[in-house]
Amino acid sequence: MGLTSSSTGNFLKKENKKNKENFDFVVGLAGNPNVGKSTIFNCLTGMHQHTGNWPGKTVSNASGYFKYKHKNFKIFDIPGTYSLMSNSEEEEIARDFICNQNPDVTIVVVDSTCLERSLNLVYQIMEITKNIIVCVNLLDEAEKKGIQIDLDKLGIMLGVPVVGTIANKKKTLLKLQETAYLVCSKQINTNPKVVKYSSDIEEYKKNNMIKQYNNSVVSEIFSQCSIVSNSVISYKSNTTPPKSRKIDKILTSKKFGIPIMLIFFALILWITIIGANYPSQWLSALFGYIQEKLIIGLEAIHTPSYIINPLIFGVYQTTTWVISVMLPPMAIFFPIFTLLEDFGFLPRIAFNLDKCFKKCCTCGKQALTMCMGFGCNAAGVVGCRIIDSKREKIIAMLTNSFVPCNGRFPFLITLSMIFIGSYFSGIFSSIAATITVLLIVILGIIFTFIISNILSKTLLKGESTNFVLELPPYRKPQIRKIIVRSIFDRTLFVLVRSIIVAAPAGLLIWLFANIQIGDLTILGYMAAALNPFANLMGLDGYILAAFLLGLPANEIVLPLILMSYLGSGNLVSIEDIHSIGEILKANGWTIITAINSMIFCLLHFPCSTTLLSIKKESGSLKWALLGFAIPTACGIVFCICTNFIYNLII
Ligand code: GDP
Repeated sequence: MGLTSSSTGNFLKKENKKNKENFDFVVGLAGNPNVGKSTIFNCLTGMHQHTGNWPGKTVSNASGYFKYKHKNFKIFDIPGTYSLMSNSEEEEIARDFICNQNPDVTIVVVDSTCLERSLNLVYQIMEITKNIIVCVNLLDEAEKKGIQIDLDKLGIMLGVPVVGTIANKKKTLLKLQETAYLVCSKQINTNPKVVKYSSDIEEYKKNNMIKQYNNSVVSEIFSQCSIVSNSVISYKSNTTPPKSRKIDKILTSKKFGIPIMLIFFALILWITIIGANYPSQWLSALFGYIQEKLIIGLEAIHTPSYIINPLIFGVYQTTTWVISVMLPPMAIFFPIFTLLEDFGFLPRIAFNLDKCFKKCCTCGKQALTMCMGFGCNAAGVVGCRIIDSKREKIIAMLTNSFVPCNGRFPFLITLSMIFIGSYFSGIFSSIAATITVLLIVILGIIFTFIISNILSKTLLKGESTNFVLELPPYRKPQIRKIIVRSIFDRTLFVLVRSIIVAAPAGLLIWLFANIQIGDLTILGYMAAALNPFANLMGLDGYILAAFLLGLPANEIVLPLILMSYLGSGNLVSIEDIHSIGEILKANGWTIITAINSMIFCLLHFPCSTTLLSIKKESGSLKWALLGFAIPTACGIVFCICTNFIYNLII
């Protein structure tokens, strides 16, 4: 079972040929955003396609397989879209798939709590394909809201099979599988009752055009098939339930919206900081113990020291450092973040920040991609596909790395605890560290606005496009799913990715720190060459060298700095954050070194994966190079300024 992602083109035809023996039927899963497509997809395939309570998270066709009655089905999770008119990349992907790839059946998932709106897409799809099943999902939510849908009548009126589901209850999907099987094997004939137009449908098909739906037909069907209790009639036309609207009044209010957002964020950071400390120590102690045993074991089998040293002090120590520093904060940060995402908080953030982005002549959806950047900048860059205009999309990609990703948080947290938190005691120490990290994050957001504004007035001139953001109803988060999703899809994904980079990088750095040419090691030469410039920025050559060598993954920057200072290549243990501070201070670090290192950590080139993503998504090396140059230039200028001001004051 494998996950493939692909955008447009003839991928299906190619795969059809290649994997003919692997599947009998192709199923497309279409629908508006946020109606439960990915949940159905995951349930049927047993996979973990990302789900969340906000539009725009599926940006390419994910595919998987399921088996039913000895037949293999290949199923595609198509990005959510309201129409097939092709305004954004997601709509184009959805339209191309349904128009050109002729799946054996297209399951159009509709939201039973706002059937009227969902039916528009059903009509559009019925115009291009006959083989349709309408899946009326979220029946549990509809029931809670007093909405009943006459599925049989709906089926008769549409002329296609209609199945009701509650996507997170696997049992309810059995009928959907059975119906898909019957349609694919031609045991059921579908006969969509499309709206009669004077022009020739074939002509539309040929020209790849889709007709506008007929509003009156949709309303008629809706009124005949739904029974809505009195209490909900008042918000029938507005999809947001009253309770959600009450919460929205506070969360999206002009006065409280942004402060509440910052408080939430500070709270997540604080919980992460205090919560991560102990598991980090335990992990580090465990890895230290294993290291001792490993060395004893290797020596017992007479392994020469030129193998033990790079293996243990290079590969093993760097990798275990990355694990012990990164795993605990991720295991805390991601589930809380996913909880808020599932609850429906992200679109509210986009809503609150929309005005600011508009002022910068960019798109409010950039707030969503910025939020994704907190997890991983590469994911944030790919997420920019949800932005319709190419100009705004590139601005969002180029500025995504201004928010620190998960790989950079441990660096920021550790330095703020050592250099700022240590001025305070007890709980105030972690609060001070939290405020410092929060200020760094706010600085990054300010830079996002400034640079977006400059770009939209210079290189990427243009007006901001209007942005219609649906505020989905708040949904009760599904705790079990959140834990599984945030641990497996996010935490382990990021961790494995950084381990893959950290292990070879650890070896390389160990070699750089230990191969002596003349008086100096290779790292020594690099640092000496970079030193004059680094001093100007209030840093030293080793710090700058570590950032450069950390290009593959930001999480290895701090281990690199420590390894360089220790010369011998022996890393210190994270167990003792105090001793890390001692080493840094012994090598000339002052408060300004720490502050500028944190600023440069925020404002410098993104990791190589993010740069590659920018190149791939924008289709041009030019934008990837700018993605490298812009934050780095900002960081250099900012650090030189702070250093200058600091020296002036002191
Ligand atoms: P997609 O955008 O259409 O792929 O929607 P998702 O599958 O990501 O689902 C959006 C949100 O709705 C997630 O939080 C799901 O857990 C939730 N969800 C999906 N189907 C149902 C359902 O039948 N009942 C309830 N209560 N929640 C659902």
